[in-house]
Amino acid sequence: MAVIIDDKCITCDACLQVCPVNAIVDDSDNPTGEKRYYVQPEKCVECVGIYDDPQCAAICPSIGTITWDMPFTPEFEEHFLNGEIYKLGEKNGKLKTPSFRKKKFREDIPVEDRGVGRLVEEEPEELNEAG
Ligand code: SF4
Ligand code: SF4
Repeated sequence: MAVIIDDKCITCDACLQVCPVNAIVDDSDNPTGEKRYYVQPEKCVECVGIYDDPQCAAICPSIGTITWDMPFTPEFEEHFLNGEIYKLGEKNGKLKTPSFRKKKFREDIPVEDRGVGRLVEEEPEELNEAG
C-alpha cells in the first residue's frame, strides 16, 4: 500500500474515478464486505511517479477517511495478511502478498507516521520546512 479507507466513507465514488492504477473498488465489490470503498493494497502505488500526492485522499470530501497505512513491502507481510481489514487478491492460486510483489510507496512518509488512522497530509512537514 498504501492508503486505507475507513468507515467515514460516504460512497461518493470520487476516489475511484481518480486513481491512476485502478486500485479502488466500490462498496459492492469491497472484498471485506464492509459498506465502504476499498483500496486494494496489492495495487496501490501511493501515486508515486504519477502525482505528488495520493489523488484519492486529495479529492475525498470526507476529511480523514483516507489515511496512510504501511508500505506494501515484505517487512509488513503479516500486517497485510490481517483478514479483517484486507482481503488480498490471488494470481494463479497464490495470494498477492508483499513478498509476492511489493509496491512503490512514498519514501518521504516515515513508517512512524503510518498506520491506520494517520492522516494523509498535503505535504510532509520536513518538505514544508525545507521550503
Ligand atoms: S494513493 Fe493513488 S494509487 Fe493509491 S489508491 Fe489512492 S489514487 Fe490510487
Ligand atoms: S472519495 Fe472518500 S467518501 Fe468518496 S467513495 Fe472515496 S473514500 Fe468514500
